[in-house]
Amino acid sequence: MIEIDKYYPDMEIIDSDIENLILNTIKDCDFDKYTNEDIDTALKKEYLDIEDFKALISPMGLMRLEDLAKCAKEKRERYFGKNVYFFTPLYISNYCENNCIYCGFNCKNNINRMKLDFEEIEKELIEIQKSGLEEILILTGESKKMSDVEYICNSIRIAKKYFKNIGVEIYPLNTDEYKLLHQAGADYVTVFQETYDKDVYEKKHQGGRKRIYPYRLNSQERAILGGLRGVAFGALLGLCDYRKDTLATASHIYYLQKKYPQIEYSVSIPRLRPTVADKTINPNDIDEKKLLQIMCAYRIFLPYINMTISTRESAVFRNNAVQIAATKISSGVSTGIGKHDETNTHKGDEQFEIADNRTTDEIYKTLKELNMQPVMNDYIYV
Ligand code: SF4
Repeated sequence: MIEIDKYYPDMEIIDSDIENLILNTIKDCDFDKYTNEDIDTALKKEYLDIEDFKALISPMGLMRLEDLAKCAKEKRERYFGKNVYFFTPLYISNYCENNCIYCGFNCKNNINRMKLDFEEIEKELIEIQKSGLEEILILTGESKKMSDVEYICNSIRIAKKYFKNIGVEIYPLNTDEYKLLHQAGADYVTVFQETYDKDVYEKKHQGGRKRIYPYRLNSQERAILGGLRGVAFGALLGLCDYRKDTLATASHIYYLQKKYPQIEYSVSIPRLRPTVADKTINPNDIDEKKLLQIMCAYRIFLPYINMTISTRESAVFRNNAVQIAATKISSGVSTGIGKHDETNTHKGDEQFEIADNRTTDEIYKTLKELNMQPVMNDYIYV
């Protein structure tokens, strides 16, 4: 198996200090040392540093969850008001060349593989648009061979006819390829590092281009250099020590934000879900209390970033999360291929099970009842 630091010849190497900064931040971290006073200090500060963030995600921070939630809610309302941004993911292909042992799409799994053609993609988009959504996130499994950059760019161009805001979650690209996505109309790029712990990363990613740890880690920076206006991050909580991965994700955003302050940053906090690959995965290793602690800590430390709460979580949890810390919510979600257009018989399997099956309309109405303001889009091209 290839070493995780060894780039394939066609992978671009950029001159970046970000990986070292993150790895130094998470080195020898003792979360048990933080005290009540450290939490008080962090909660009182207007601008927190990394040490304060470590305190917030520590075991002591968990004991002070109510205070964290109060502070997070205050910051959320100060910077985002009652706004909750809506989007939905559209999976257009589930072919994947990677072997991530925790994922239902992994190349060793015998699932129903599918790739939509452009006509099918357009039909899916038309169906989704009927719900009133204006933001779409286009996703593929990670196979450059089956879903090449041209296929993705054409899909973005079609989506641009129906949606105002386009996100893309695909395999990592070089800067010039990100430039092509940007020119096609993509607004932001999402890449989950999954885990920042190199040893665990190596064990969980047993084949394919994803194995190359630094190439993945520098994706967001290459996307920024390619002209994207937004980048999104996430660690898959449950793969490794969740506090360490949360700290790494926050520091990834923190250091990039210092370097590129003009960019829109977003974070997701996905927990492992059961998949067709492994029904034994227990999503409750990180319970909802811990998940909320992480969300509050992000909101307090990085108050301006967007935060997405996915359908991996229950309707009740999501309703509460958007009132305290999260700003973005997905609705009308299917993680399978070709599931929006009912006339389509060409369908592929789901990546993972979801816990909130509500339609856009149902979530919209619930949020209004909770005195929140659903927003379909607030970005205007001039
Ligand atoms: S997590 Fe992504 S890259 Fe890994 S097997 Fe699943 S779809 Fe492929």
